[in-house]
This record gives sequence, C-alpha cells and structure tokens, in this order.
Amino acid sequence: MNRPINVKLLKALQQALGDHVVLTGERIPAKARSDKSRIGHHSPMIYIRPRSVEHISSALRLCNTYCSSVVVQGGMTGLAGGANPERKDVVIAMDLLAGIEEIDTAAGTMTVLAGTVLEVAQKAAEDSGFLLPIDLGARGSCQIGGNLATNAGGVRVINHGVTRDNVLGLQAVLADGTVISSLNRVQKNNTGYDLKQLFIGSEGTLGIITRAVLKLQPLPVHRATALCALSSYEDVVALLRHARKSLMGLSAFELMWETFFRFNCEAENIKAFEADYPFTVIIEQSGETIGLEEFLSAMLEEGLLDDALIAQSEKERDRFWKIREGLSLGKLPNLIEYDVSLPIGALNLYAEEVIKALETEFPGIHVSIFGHVADSNIHLCISARQLNVIAKNRINTIVYDGVRKHQGSISAEHGIGLLKRDYLAYSRSPEELELMRRIKQALDPQCILNPGKIFLA
Ligand SMILES: Cc1cc2nc3c(=O)[nH]c(=O)nc-3n(C[C@H](O)[C@H](O)[C@H](O)COP(=O)(O)OP(=O)(O)OC[C@H]3O[C@@H](n4cnc5c(N)ncnc54)[C@H](O)[C@@H]3O)c2cc1C
Repeated sequence: MNRPINVKLLKALQQALGDHVVLTGERIPAKARSDKSRIGHHSPMIYIRPRSVEHISSALRLCNTYCSSVVVQGGMTGLAGGANPERKDVVIAMDLLAGIEEIDTAAGTMTVLAGTVLEVAQKAAEDSGFLLPIDLGARGSCQIGGNLATNAGGVRVINHGVTRDNVLGLQAVLADGTVISSLNRVQKNNTGYDLKQLFIGSEGTLGIITRAVLKLQPLPVHRATALCALSSYEDVVALLRHARKSLMGLSAFELMWETFFRFNCEAENIKAFEADYPFTVIIEQSGETIGLEEFLSAMLEEGLLDDALIAQSEKERDRFWKIREGLSLGKLPNLIEYDVSLPIGALNLYAEEVIKALETEFPGIHVSIFGHVADSNIHLCISARQLNVIAKNRINTIVYDGVRKHQGSISAEHGIGLLKRDYLAYSRSPEELELMRRIKQALDPQCILNPGKIFLA
C-alpha cells in the first residue's frame, strides 16, 4: 500500500521540472525499491529523473521547503541498503545526468557527470590512452556518483588507492539546493578545508554529487597474471612482502581461502591445481614486460609457493579472475556478505576464530572467505538453509565482535547504509559519532537527505 502523495510538493515539482521528469505510481520502475542488498521493499512516493544540475537544485530546494525526505539513487549496485527508499521518500535517480565532459590529456584528468556508468568512463579513458583506476565487479551498472558516495574500493586499490585517492574535485548540491562547485583540477591545492572529502563516502546523506574531476593514469600496455598455491598464511604474508619489494608494477594480490576457491572452481567447472591448498593468491603485474615468471620461480625456490600457474592467454586470465569474482556464491540460500578490515597479520586468526564460532553455533553453515589482502580487507560470504532474524543478528555479532577485538573496521568497502547502522559504534568512538552528527546538522539541518542511513541523526 502506498502512502498518500504530498500533493502540494508534487505539483510544485511538476511545475518546476515538468511531468516527464517527475514520476509517480506505476510509472516508477521496480528497480527503485532495492539495491543489491535485496532488503528494500518499498516504492517511493515520487521518482525524479533530473536532466540537469539545475533540476536537482530546484528539486532539493522544494523538498527542503516541504521537509520531504530524499534518497539519491545511482546504479543500485550498493550492498548496504543505502539507496533503498521508504514509501514517503522522494527518489532522485541520476541515470540521465550522464556523460564525459572533458578529458584533459595534458593534465591526465577526466571531468564526468555523476550518473555516468563506471565502465563507460573507463572505456572513454582507454580510448584516450589512459587508465581510470577505479574498478569493481559492478562496473557495468554502478555510477561514478555512487562510487564517490560509497568511496568504493575494488581490485586496483593496491597501487592506486580507493576512490577517494582518485578524485581531484567535485560538484555537489546541498539539501537547500545550493550548488557547491569544487571542481579542482590540480594535484596541489591547500586553500582551506578540502570540501570534496565531506561528500566522498557520505552515502547520500550530506549532498548530491553531480560532477567529478578524476585522476587518470597511463594505460598499461602489458599485463601478466598468475594463480599461486600456498600452504600457510605466514607464506601468504611473506609472498606479499616480497612482491611489494621486488615485483615492479604489482597491480593485484587477491587471496582466496580454501572453501571459497573450491566452491567457485566447482561452480565454474575449472580445474586449476592437481591438489587442494589452504590458500590461493591471484597476482597481477601491469605495465612491465618482464618479471613475473622470474619472481615466481624465486618464490618456489624459497619454498613460499607450493605451485603456480601463469595465464598463457587473456582467456586463461579471465578464467582465473572468474574464480575470484565468485559470482556463483549468489546462488547460495540466505547469503550474507561482510566486508571487514583488520590488520594484515590478524586476518587469518580472525577468519579461523569466526569460522570456529559459526560452525559451533550453526552446524553445516557455509563460510567462504576471500579478500584484497594487501588492503587489509576480506569478504566473508555466509549461508545456511534456515536463518531467521535472531540467527542473522547472532551471526552479525560474531563477525563484528571479532572485528572490534582486532581493532578493525566493520566496513572496508560497501559503506554503512542501513545494514550496518546498528554496529557503527563497533568501529567509531562516541566522539567521532557526535562530530558526524554535527556535520550532518550543519549541512542538512532538516535532515531530509537519506535520513536513517549511516546513523540516526
Ligand atoms: C557484483 C558486485 C561487485 C561489487 N564489488 C565491489 C568492490 O569491489 N568494491 C566496492 O567498494 N564495492 C563493490 N560493490 C558495491 C557497489 O557496487 C559499490 O558500492 C558502488 O560504488 C555503488 O555505486 P552505485 O552507483 O550502484 O550506487 P547506489 O547503490 O545507487 O548507491 C549507493 C549509495 O550512494 C548514494 N549515492 C548514489 N549516487 C549518489 C550521488 N550522485 N550523490 C550522492 N550520493 C549518491 C546512495 O544514496 C547510496 O547511499 C559491488 C557490488 C556488486 C553488485
């Protein structure tokens, strides 16, 4: 059942933006209900598809006047429920505010509208001979604005950092409709507070990001990929240390625990090694034409590696990455995914402790683990046939208690949204939370932007 529409607001929006921009009822697409967390159920009261920054500014000014809550939606690939609306909400969908505005080949920058799909921006960079280093599995649907709003990570963080590290400037619209153009294009700019950082990672709670200036890197001409089998976590850490020291152009170091690797090899019908190993790492080297084979031979001699396969073709490389992308896990019942960070040295101890606690309380539970181990970030994929709310809360507590014990973060990548809101205090002090509330109050005093996401204001 839909809530009654705020008729005055609807009329004001239609008058300011036009009927074709402001949708209600059955004209609202079903995809507006939930992101990939699959926990959203409600269609919003009003759905706006702005064609310009002026549209967004007018819409926010009116929503602020009528004190109506607003949820901004990018590609809806988020995994924390951050873009999910309530029935009373106005959704602002960014897909039509898309396009590359400029690629500055001298400076190595791209100016892009926030609704641009990541893969479109990557392709435009490549066509100009550059690499846009932001990259994640959802590249075909997620948008640049969503990537900034969640400060997305991904598989290139090891040498290019998270999204935050690849942004020079941005433009955002505040809750009252004010447009803040902070479209800085230079690397060095110490003119007061770095305002863009307020919006990066703010999950649509402080403003709507409309444009960004992104840093581009030279496009690597060569890429080599290997799958490495190891028998202890200590060997994984030693291999990472050696790779960082002596493998030029190290561009990925992705670790898979045994259950994850075996499950995905079976699901994808891939036979990699003759034997089973507790740990498998994908190493990738970009831009260098020599080195990976020599490096792996040295590591085999040193006894750190049990086996290694170097991809002989792009097809084989794609097969290696298919195992790591783990898409088949999505078919498991009641799948819960976690993205936690812990100090590298503690990752395996944490994994062992969580698996033991879960298997003791929930016999037969499936726990697969993989991660961007060089970034201290692992993902846990947990599934069981029957999981009620009490069981899910208990699993959350087991996973997050361990994170707190090892002084890690409950979200390395996906953000807090709704799913992790009740656990934010596991990773943030009361003083930090109070400062966040004060920033929210200063930028959005009526709390119209994505209320209830990240924390209760
Ligand atoms: C297969 C798959 C793989 C993934 N891999 C990774 C990964 O490796 N690393 C990683 O970090 N994440 C990953 N994700 C999660 C997700 O793709 C990222 O969080 C992504 O950045 C979200 O972008 P989006 O455009 O889909 O945002 P949405 O899901 O639409 O929104 C996410 C949040 O951002 C806000 N938002 C969206 N657009 C704007 C805007 N213009 N201005 C202000 N706020 C906005 C929303 O309100 C919401 O709070 C993955 C998801 C899937 C499905």
